[in-house]
Amino acid sequence: MVLSVSSLLSTVVVLLLFTLPSSPKPEFIFTPLKESHIQAVVICSKELGIHLRIRSGGHDYEGLSYVSEIERPFSVVDLAKLRSIRIDIEDNSAWVQAGATNGELYYRISEKSKTHGFPAVAKTLEQGATKILYKWQQVADKLDEDLFIRVYVQTANTSNEGKRTITTSYDCIETNWINSTVYLDGFPNNTLPEVFLERRNLLKTYFKGKSDYAREVIPETALEGLWEKLLEVESPLVILTPYGGMMSKIPESQTPFPHRKGTKFKILYWSRWQDAEENVAKHIDWTRKVYKFLAPYVSKSPREAYVNYRDLDLGMNKNRSTSVEEASAFGTKYFKDNFYRLVHVKTEVDPDNFFRHEQSIPPLPLHMRGRN
Ligand SMILES: Cc1cc2nc3c(=O)[nH]c(=O)nc-3n(C[C@H](O)[C@H](O)[C@H](O)COP(=O)(O)OP(=O)(O)OC[C@H]3O[C@@H](n4cnc5c(N)ncnc54)[C@H](O)[C@@H]3O)c2cc1C
Repeated sequence: MVLSVSSLLSTVVVLLLFTLPSSPKPEFIFTPLKESHIQAVVICSKELGIHLRIRSGGHDYEGLSYVSEIERPFSVVDLAKLRSIRIDIEDNSAWVQAGATNGELYYRISEKSKTHGFPAVAKTLEQGATKILYKWQQVADKLDEDLFIRVYVQTANTSNEGKRTITTSYDCIETNWINSTVYLDGFPNNTLPEVFLERRNLLKTYFKGKSDYAREVIPETALEGLWEKLLEVESPLVILTPYGGMMSKIPESQTPFPHRKGTKFKILYWSRWQDAEENVAKHIDWTRKVYKFLAPYVSKSPREAYVNYRDLDLGMNKNRSTSVEEASAFGTKYFKDNFYRLVHVKTEVDPDNFFRHEQSIPPLPLHMRGRN
C-alpha cells in the first residue's frame, strides 16, 4: 500500500506545471486498494501530524490534490485504484468511486444505454469522476432545450509571414453522445470509445487558467481589445461556454453551484506553453492582465468564478487556522451565498478541519458554533 514517492510521483502529478523542481513534493503517497485503507491513512496522518492531500483524477488547476504550498510536510492519498462504477438505468442512477475517470464513466453508461448520458467535462479523459451519486435525465428528454454552442478562441499564423490572427471555432457535428465525448477528448476521428478504458492522459502542456461569468453581452470593442491581448502570448486559449437552459431553471440555492439564472456564458482563459525552461511568471501575469481587462464586462459583487477552474489569485487560506471572512473572498466567488451554508456543513462534518487546502471551506470558529 505504501510505495516510494519517486516511483509514484509521475503518475500522481498529471499537470506538467507541478512537475517542476520548484513545486513542493509529498513525503508519502498512499494508494488504497479498499475503503478501509483510507481510514488507516487518515488515522496515521492524524497520529503523525502529517498534513494529507486527497487525489482523485489530479486535474485540479492549482494542483491542490497533490501539492501543498501552505503546510509541510504533507502526504497524498491517491484514489486511482478505487474506481468501481455501478450503473442502474431503471433507477436512473450511478454509483461511481472517486478514482474512476470520466472516460470510464462515460463508457460504462454507454454500455448500458444509447439514450442516457452524463454531461461532465470535456478534454480530460483522466479526470476523476465526481464523487457522489449521479442522477441524470435521458438525453432524449433534453432535445427540446436550446442549442448550445461552445466557442474556442485561439491564435493562428496568417499567410503573411510572422503575422498572427485570431480564430474562433464552432463544432457542429451530428453524432451520438459517447462518440462526441471521444471527439471532445481530442482523439482522432473513428477512435472507438474503448480508448477510455486505457486511462490515457492527453494533457502534455503547461498552463495557467482563470475564469469569469458574463451576465451581459460583451461589446464588440471589448472583444477587439481581448483579441489584441491574445496576440501578446504564444499559445492563448479562450473558451466561451453558453449557460441557460436547464441550468438556469434550478434555483441558485438548490445545489452549491450558483451560476444560474441571468448567466449568459462562462469565460475560461488560459496561457499555455511547452517548455519547462519557460518563464512561468510571464504567463501568470498575462492571465492577470486579461482578468483585469475584462472586469467591466463580467459579473460583479461578487465577480463569479468557476470552482473547477481553481485560481489561487482569488484568495487563499493561510494555514490550518482558517478564517471564514478571509475564505469568503474566494468562497463567494465560487459559491455566492451558498458559501455560508457550506461553512455550516463543514462545521458539522469536519469540525477539526482535517481535510483542508489553500481554498477549502473553513469550519465556523469555536465561539460561533451552536448558535443556529
Ligand atoms: C485539461 C483540463 C481540462 C478541464 N476541462 C474541464 C471542463 O471542461 N469542465 C469542467 O468543469 N472542468 C474542467 N476541468 C477542471 C476539472 O473538472 C477540475 O479540476 C476537477 O476538480 C478535476 O477533478 P479531479 O478528480 O481530476 O481533481 P483532483 O485534482 O484529484 O481533486 C480536485 C479537488 O478535490 C479534492 N478531492 C479529490 N477527491 C476527493 C474525494 N474523494 N473526496 C473529497 N475531496 C476530494 C482534492 O483534494 C482537490 O482539492 C479541466 C481540468 C483540466 C486540467
